[in-house]
Amino acid sequence: MPELPEVETIVRDVAPRLVGRRIRSAKLTKTDVLRGVSRPRLVRTLTGNTVRAASRRAKHAVFLLQSGHRMIVQPRMTGSLIVYDRPLTPDEARYAVLTCSLAGGGLFVYRDVRRLGTVWLLDERGWKAYTARLGPEPLEPGFTPAVLARALAGTRAAVKKAIMDQRRLAGVGNIYANEALFDARIDPSRPANRLTAAEVETLHGAIVEILQRALRASGTTVRDYRTGTGESGNFQFELKVYDRGGEPCVRCGRRLVTTHAIDLRQTTLCAFCQR
Ligand SMILES: [Zn+2]
Repeated sequence: MPELPEVETIVRDVAPRLVGRRIRSAKLTKTDVLRGVSRPRLVRTLTGNTVRAASRRAKHAVFLLQSGHRMIVQPRMTGSLIVYDRPLTPDEARYAVLTCSLAGGGLFVYRDVRRLGTVWLLDERGWKAYTARLGPEPLEPGFTPAVLARALAGTRAAVKKAIMDQRRLAGVGNIYANEALFDARIDPSRPANRLTAAEVETLHGAIVEILQRALRASGTTVRDYRTGTGESGNFQFELKVYDRGGEPCVRCGRRLVTTHAIDLRQTTLCAFCQR
């Protein structure tokens, strides 16, 4: 959390208010979110730089700067990225980790209550290495059933674990893995390389559809996730299995089961509908 639909929502919300803007000054209050960059280098690089593009890769928001650097933010559980056109309230300021003051007014803020998120600063070479380690983007046209089949063929790991592995497939986390496997009627514990071609095709369709639907609903808020304008998402009302252990299956009415047998993550399924 947040996964592809949430980070995509954040990026789409902040992009029109951020791209083309110059950063007048930057303030970083906590350094524990930084990866591979020091506070002085981050602040120095951001100051006076202009944001040329905002995009998403996997579960990361990517801000391309005029200098050619990219600032990569993974908000994780409690982080949010918001552009404000007013000063922060004391509560907002309390958890602001990075605050960029924009020329012409406005603030670009990375806020993180528990600071579980990460901030990277990469040059072109670093970015190429970073993105090369991530799997295909499921909402891009090149993501076909054959691409998913290749990603699953190389591992005996549980199919749920395999589709959450960012090196195999980008952007899918626990919520949408649970939901896609329910929609595809596949038992999450099945070895990934044992799915039939027909099952892979069904799963491919289910992954694409669940991500598109969640994106249309501005993502899922179960705890702290907020869009790039500070709103809650709406897809939590449409979840069929995630966080619904013990409730009736929407398809057959039997009780949904929650286990932690796959990678210690919470997996909820219908043992009757998913085979
Ligand atoms: Zn069922």
